[in-house]
Amino acid sequence: MKAIAIDGPASAGKSTMARYLSKELQFIYVDTGALYRAIGLYCVHKGIDTTDGQQVTAILNEVVVELKYVEGEQRVFLNGQDVSQEIRQPEMSMAASNVSAISAVREFLFELQRDMARHNNVVMDGRDIGTVVLPWADLKIYLTASPEERARRRQNEYAQKGIETDYDKLLEEIRQRDYNDQHRLIAPLKKAEDAIEVDTTHDNMEETMARLLALAKEKLGNVAV
Ligand code: C5P
Repeated sequence: MKAIAIDGPASAGKSTMARYLSKELQFIYVDTGALYRAIGLYCVHKGIDTTDGQQVTAILNEVVVELKYVEGEQRVFLNGQDVSQEIRQPEMSMAASNVSAISAVREFLFELQRDMARHNNVVMDGRDIGTVVLPWADLKIYLTASPEERARRRQNEYAQKGIETDYDKLLEEIRQRDYNDQHRLIAPLKKAEDAIEVDTTHDNMEETMARLLALAKEKLGNVAV
């Protein structure tokens, strides 16, 4: 099986790039952030403090998280219910970041991610894909952009869904999430030694897509390209 790992901070363009590459290569796109968001959502529904490791660990045995593909799009199921929309609510970003720092949560989701890559050619995005989940990935990309540019992109994304947000608040949240993700003890966000860093601050999307597709073709050879 072939694998492309795309890591990087929030709103650097990982999902856009991963989705594009997966279509071009006919690989499956696995958005691992959605898994952490599903656990965060469950905790929020239950009224559990998402920073409380003990409480969050205790509810994991009540939770079944599954990934399914409907017309090529990933859907996330939490205890049999499709929560793909709900996990995108702005407050779920921080809930996901909080639960993702808890070792039991990371262990809980680890096999599911590995399993996807065992049975499919994947483009997988997240924070620790190149470093922990798929260290043998054929191509590793570390995608970044300035926090200001990422906050602007996130605001546009929400605006397109009709969700109004405050730019300063989004920027603050992005900085906080970067800090959390980079400083947690387990599987912190960092560039794998053999990852190629791509800064998208001044790129337009088409340029970045072309660059990544060229890298994929170079590294993966003739796999369904
Ligand atoms: O990518 P997304 O913004 O949906 O991820 C939500 C949160 O889930 C991130 O801020 C990060 O804390 C966590 N995450 C992680 N490891 C991954 C993917 C996401 O810790 N592989």
